[in-house]
Amino acid sequence: MATIDTILSETRVFAPSEAFRKQATVSGMDAYKALCAKAESDYEGFWGALAKEHISWHKPFSNVLDETKAPFYRWFYDGEMNVSYNCLDRHLADKSNKTALIFEADDGKVTKVTYQDLYHRVCQFANALKAQGVAKGDRVIIYMPMSIEAVVAMQACARIGGIHSVVFGGFSAKSLHERIIDAGAKLVITADEGMRGGKAVALKSAVDDAIGMGGCDCVEKVVVYKRTGGNVHWDAQRDQWWHEAIIGQADTCEPVWVNAEDPLFILYTSGSTGKPKGVQHSSAGFLLGAILSMKWVFDHKADDVYWCTADVGWITGHTYVAYGPLAMGGTEVIFEGVPTYPDAGRFWKLIQDHKVTTFYTAPTAIRSLIKLGSDLPKQYDLSSLRLLGTVGEPINPEAWMWYYETVGQGHCPIVDTWWQTETGSNMIAPLPGAVPTKPGSCTLPLPGIIADIVDEQGGPIEKGQGGILVIKRPFPSQLRTLWGDPERYKNTYFPAELGGKMYLAGDSAHRDKDGYFWIMGRIDDVLNVSGHRLGTMEIESALVANPLVAEAAVVGKPHDIKGESVVAFVVLKGQRPTGDAAREVVAQLREWVGKEIGPIAKPDEIRFGDNLPKTRSGKIMRRLLRSIAKGEEITSDTSTLENPAILEQLKETVK
Ligand code: ATP
Ligand code: MG
Repeated sequence: MATIDTILSETRVFAPSEAFRKQATVSGMDAYKALCAKAESDYEGFWGALAKEHISWHKPFSNVLDETKAPFYRWFYDGEMNVSYNCLDRHLADKSNKTALIFEADDGKVTKVTYQDLYHRVCQFANALKAQGVAKGDRVIIYMPMSIEAVVAMQACARIGGIHSVVFGGFSAKSLHERIIDAGAKLVITADEGMRGGKAVALKSAVDDAIGMGGCDCVEKVVVYKRTGGNVHWDAQRDQWWHEAIIGQADTCEPVWVNAEDPLFILYTSGSTGKPKGVQHSSAGFLLGAILSMKWVFDHKADDVYWCTADVGWITGHTYVAYGPLAMGGTEVIFEGVPTYPDAGRFWKLIQDHKVTTFYTAPTAIRSLIKLGSDLPKQYDLSSLRLLGTVGEPINPEAWMWYYETVGQGHCPIVDTWWQTETGSNMIAPLPGAVPTKPGSCTLPLPGIIADIVDEQGGPIEKGQGGILVIKRPFPSQLRTLWGDPERYKNTYFPAELGGKMYLAGDSAHRDKDGYFWIMGRIDDVLNVSGHRLGTMEIESALVANPLVAEAAVVGKPHDIKGESVVAFVVLKGQRPTGDAAREVVAQLREWVGKEIGPIAKPDEIRFGDNLPKTRSGKIMRRLLRSIAKGEEITSDTSTLENPAILEQLKETVK
């Protein structure tokens, strides 16, 4: 089975500084271990107490966990609450004038909203949704640019028990069409256009096209927020302006008390490995995961300015933009646009201008910013930062080091957070005042998360060996099912081979001598070269450690003798090389990997591109690269691909 012969040779360890540890919510390794021990000795008691403490309940629960219909678990299932109430109303007594959102638009225009304002805006829009016929349990598609209104729309759905399904504004009409139908949406909320890097992105017209493709009779209304004032086609029966829909609506709205298990939202996964899955989350369990990770992993404090750069179209933008920071009564930054407009200093300027304390982004953004100006952060005052985070893909140790030294200036812990759309909140990540970090490792599970690495039958593996990542006990923030497809839910996440109860994450990982988790990539991404198991992640990290290389993706290609050969797709920091120059770099890089890992890991083939094929959330789509490496036609789903043109370039080999 998936034993991985080579493991990253990373040995750097960064213990929390004394100053950070002292002020941290979970301070020191003993405090972390005590929390873990508490969860292990009384699992239900542990979660029950946290749910009581951190969620404001309308009707308290008397039962914690129901496993009778496993893997269809229920948590706190006789309790009633409302997520929007927990994010807004409960802060009004002492934080009504506190800034909830700092929104910076694509053109740099800043708008601030207090908790009191946000509460009124959410209530008013919730009333407008009710007037449009949305009731508890109805599905609402949100296809919006990053904006205050996007958060208002999500919170307003939560307030009236509507189930939102946010579709990233960069997705095509076709992707939107599929999601509208799959969710059976009654209403679509969109904008005329969004702005990205100075260019308008048509949203309303994509909604028109999606509905025009047929089969969307479920959609009764489309509510349109006027963002740019650009031209739109109008269906007077169906379409309604946001600003008109709220006229005459009261700015208070009694929340609809929902059962803890009532769905809060459906969100389709990124589609990195296949057809997107409609992940369904609960209300209370999801909220609890968001709150605890804000507290434990982000060490959230009342005077923090928290900035998660994710779009609300991704799970990260749900848990750490729309819900988590607000549930904490925190101040957060939301930004519209791209990290490279008006220039590659945008992130750093934003941190400086708003005195951001906690910054959470993705390795893809970090790598592209290194490529565009590794010294740029030094031109800004980043002294407000106290904590950095990363999510979405494994972070290569060299990118981690740059993030630590150049952005965090050597004093900010980095929380590398492993989790998924399905898990709802961070699963494996350092508690920054307790767990020493190692570049490239997501370190240890959060208290109460029983993560492990097993073989393909669910059996134990030897220490230090690689295997498949599982979570052995149910946890509150996990998905409840796949929307409308309970069979796929069971087969995908709780396969019979693993006994039907262990959550299969779909990633492979190994643990080092300290028990730290190192994510190696997707299960399919492990290569078998002449009987040696190699993690693609490790070869990629070796390549990225070379000063010439900005990004790399490695896949396997069937080979008659070796079983599999290693094919690397590489983006250089400089120009894409051709001819002799390309041959020379290939030779250099092969030599480099041979030295870094061992001759067995030397790529048999290296191809160069200006970029790599990525999902719109910035993840490398290795399944497409596998097809390219084999010389196959690409027949799998490419609807979530960001940059289709790059595929042609990568078909060219270096001869
Ligand atoms: P799909 O399930 O449709 O293929 P996806 O898995 O890319 O899409 P997400 O739920 O957004 O969709 O991503 C979760 C995955 O991202 C994880 O399974 C893991 O492979 C990767 N990932 C997330 N965070 C980390 C991290 N900190 N380190 C390593 N990998 C990570
Ligand atoms: Mg996935």
